[in-house]
Amino acid sequence: MVKTRVIFLGPPGVGKGTQAKLVAEKLGIPHISTGDILRKARQEGTPLGLEAKAYMDRGDLVPDSVLNGLVEARLQNPDAAQGWILDGFPRTRSQAEFLQSLLGKLSQGVAAVIHLDATTDVLVERLLKRAQLEGRTDDDEEVIRNRLAVYQKETAPLVDFYHELVRVIDGSSPLELVTQQILEVLH
Ligand code: AMP
Repeated sequence: MVKTRVIFLGPPGVGKGTQAKLVAEKLGIPHISTGDILRKARQEGTPLGLEAKAYMDRGDLVPDSVLNGLVEARLQNPDAAQGWILDGFPRTRSQAEFLQSLLGKLSQGVAAVIHLDATTDVLVERLLKRAQLEGRTDDDEEVIRNRLAVYQKETAPLVDFYHELVRVIDGSSPLELVTQQILEVLH
């Protein structure tokens, strides 16, 4: 079987986490969400969690050095040998360059970059709804605006960085349709 190694790229609120989780389950590969790892570290009060807290609460990015080390360790976990979905990493050009060199060392390559996209109106509406449902500390309106701005400045340029691998999917379509379209692209 071809090893499935996929990066999910897209703005906050586009449904990236939900889709990445569903697709990873379907394909039987780990869903590696840096946001989930950081939130868990915060809940457990580990040094990583304490370091990340202030950045996350402002909607800013946690420093590259922290994320790079975290992903380097995670990708070397035996469960990641057969493939993986990276959700929320890389988020900056420097993280993308780090990932390339790491994958080179591991003799791994990226099969595809799924770019989920939606308009700002759809994103803000969904994020505000999620704030009510889940109570995430980074889902209040001011922080949401900052996260969207950080995405535009730091992460959106990665669509060009990965242009040959990028497949764009409309994240405002119904959930099941989005999953189906992603699976078709990865087939
Ligand atoms: P997410 O769940 O992917 O939206 O991530 C939530 C928060 O975790 C982000 O707003 C950042 O503060 C932090 N974070 C997650 N992934 C990264 C990353 N690759 N680089 C920097 N910060 C990150």
